[in-house]
Amino acid sequence: MSRHQFEAYLDKVFDFSNRVGALPEGRQWPQHPWKKVFEAVFLGAAMQMPSLLQIEAECRDGALAKRIGPISDDTIGYALQRQSPEPVFALGCEIARRLKRNGVLRSDWSRGLVVAAVDGIEICSSFARCCDACMHREVEHKVRGEMRTDIQYYHRLVAVTVVSTPFPIPLGIRFQKDGEAEVPCALALIQDLVGRLGRRFVDILVGDAIYLQAPFVKAVEGLGWDWAFTLKENQPDLLREAECLTAGPPGAIQVERDRELRWWHLPEVDWPVADRLVRVVKTFRIAHQRKVTVSQDGAHRKKTKTEVTEESTNFYATNFKLGSIPPLFVYQLSRSRWRIDTEVFQTLTTDCHLKHPAVHQSTALVVLTMIRLLAYALSLVFYHQQIRSHARGRCQNFQEFAKRMAYWFVARSADTS
Ligand SMILES: [Zn+2]
Repeated sequence: MSRHQFEAYLDKVFDFSNRVGALPEGRQWPQHPWKKVFEAVFLGAAMQMPSLLQIEAECRDGALAKRIGPISDDTIGYALQRQSPEPVFALGCEIARRLKRNGVLRSDWSRGLVVAAVDGIEICSSFARCCDACMHREVEHKVRGEMRTDIQYYHRLVAVTVVSTPFPIPLGIRFQKDGEAEVPCALALIQDLVGRLGRRFVDILVGDAIYLQAPFVKAVEGLGWDWAFTLKENQPDLLREAECLTAGPPGAIQVERDRELRWWHLPEVDWPVADRLVRVVKTFRIAHQRKVTVSQDGAHRKKTKTEVTEESTNFYATNFKLGSIPPLFVYQLSRSRWRIDTEVFQTLTTDCHLKHPAVHQSTALVVLTMIRLLAYALSLVFYHQQIRSHARGRCQNFQEFAKRMAYWFVARSADTS
């Protein structure tokens, strides 16, 4: 094998190396080219290296020693801080367009529609560390047994991710400015994405209840996207109306082995503050689970199985014209958004890059997070398109695969040395 499989694939499908090489340089006298720094962070993130310190160590005498060569964590932080985030954002959009052209965004359950989820997350909150772009708030907390009020610093970002695909594909992120709320930040991100990807890239946007606001909904429709958002107490009139109209028996009941789903469908409900009608679907879900509890009975431990029943009621509002599609589609749409939380945000928050002072700087944090998300998306694409689809028998999972990628680099440098 003359070239590393992952990078060879990225070059073949995305012309990746040339695109990275074409990114503008933000420093005047760079000691290491931006492409090298970018690739160190990108490959380190694809191999799920948990920190800049490990990337530094792997570049010095580990998996990336031959491919990248020595580079310090401070150099990486310095270089990241001096780049403009826009070209990296644009690179992510170019990749997304290629994925769509190649048919990777197709999926069966969503009936050919591209569904994207919007959601916000908080990262790296701390009392001590602060950069120019930190958001801040006063919090009460306990210090040596005494309650006191301190200023806490943190960052928040909004992400838009395709969730109709077999694996989630992040399209873009935007950091909230200090004092900026999540929904206006999300709208700015969506406008940027539409500017780069075109209006028809995404068909439906899904999100939680904070997005169900008249101005946001209007703006999203103005961009040509449909939407489905959770309906909660923040829209009290619409919720009351929907509750009243669904007080009777459900429209249908779906029973499976361990769960039951009852649903109601209201094609037109009055939403007074938005001066319009919207479609609402209500679901009542009963899930049966068996829980095993262990108790001590004299010298013996006794296992008892008990049946636990969980019930949940949810309302979803949408402008989506169902036509002949069953109303339960709205429920499927809205549930698909959980993947942004359980899969995409997990990767962003589980490792400790963000605690590193070299990257806790306004621009470095943004550029680093964009590169990490791109590495996550592209390694998932490679894993699903190349590894899983070509595997015979049992296939390693994504985490095992990311670790194995590091060995490919080591094996390759052994070949060529
Ligand atoms: Zn900060």
